[in-house]
Amino acid sequence: MHASLTMTRRGALLAAAALPAAAALSAGPHGRAHAAAAMMGGGFTPFHRFRLGGFEVTTLLAGSRAIDNPQGIFGLNVSAEEFAAVSAAHFLPADRSQNFFTPTVVNTGAELVLFDTGLAAPATQAALAAAGYAPGQVDVVVLSHMHGDHIGGMRHEGAAAYPNARYVTGAVEHNHWTAAGNEGFVNNVVPFNDQMTFLDDAGSVAPGITAMALPGHTPGHMGYMVESEGARLVLMADAANHYVWSVGRPDWEVRFDADKAQAAATRRRLLGMLASERIPVIGYHMPFPAIGHVEAQGDGFRYVPASYQFMLAG
Ligand SMILES: [Zn+2]
Repeated sequence: MHASLTMTRRGALLAAAALPAAAALSAGPHGRAHAAAAMMGGGFTPFHRFRLGGFEVTTLLAGSRAIDNPQGIFGLNVSAEEFAAVSAAHFLPADRSQNFFTPTVVNTGAELVLFDTGLAAPATQAALAAAGYAPGQVDVVVLSHMHGDHIGGMRHEGAAAYPNARYVTGAVEHNHWTAAGNEGFVNNVVPFNDQMTFLDDAGSVAPGITAMALPGHTPGHMGYMVESEGARLVLMADAANHYVWSVGRPDWEVRFDADKAQAAATRRRLLGMLASERIPVIGYHMPFPAIGHVEAQGDGFRYVPASYQFMLAG
C-alpha cells in the first residue's frame, strides 16, 4: 500500500510520530533519534603537554578533591571578613575550595624526568599512561619534598613504581626527615636511598634542569628551573599552593608550611623573580593544567593561567 502523494507535511509528521521508536531513528532533523544522553559529571583529560625549547613538558593530574574551610589551611593569620572579601573579589567561595595534585614529566630528549609521584602510584600512573608513557620509561624521579602527597607514589604493592629510575632530592630535605623519622618517609623514600642523588641549591638534575632551594614549606623544599634553547620554566612545587590566597597574598600563613615566616619570605622572593623575569611557572597544587604566569599586583601578585602561548611553540 502506498502513501498518498498528496499527503500534507503535518500528516507525514503525525505518521512518523506513530512509528515505533526504532523506526523513528530515521526521523530526520526534527525527530528524537536517540534517548536523552546521561549526565556524565565534570571532567577533563588528566594530562597537558607543551613544548619548551627542545623539551616536552607534561603535567599529570594525579588527583583532585574539594576541601572544606580553606581558611583553616590558607589564611591562618587573617580575619574571616578579609578572607571572604579576597575570595569574593576573585569569584571564589570562602567556605570550600578544590585542591589539585600535579606531578610533572619533562622529556629532555635524553631522559624522561618525573617530578613528584602523587598520593599513590595508580592514579599517577593512570595519568602517565593517558599521556603515552609507561612507568618503565621514567629515567629520573625527582622529589621536591617529603610530604605524603609527593612521595606517596614511589612504590606500588611493595615494588618500585618506576623500576628503571634513578632518584634525586634535596640534601637538606633528606637529612631533615632522616632525623625526624617520619613513617611515610621511611616507607616510601628510605628504600631508595642507595639509588638517590642529593642536591643543594643550584645542583643539576640533568642538563637544563637545576635545583632552586625554596625552604619554608619544609626545611629543604626544592623547586626546579627547567631551561631549553633559551626558554625557561620554574616548577615551584609547594612554594605557593593557592593561586589567590598564596600568590595574591604571600604573607597569609599556610597551615602546612613548617616555618611560616620563612615560607612567606621564600614565596615573595620566588614570585618577585617570576614576575620580574616573566618566567612561566607550574605549581603542584595550582588549578589544572597548573601552568601560568605571575605579575606583581598591589602588595602581592596575580596568577595568570596560561592560554595558548605554549601551543604556539608547537
Ligand atoms: Zn603538596
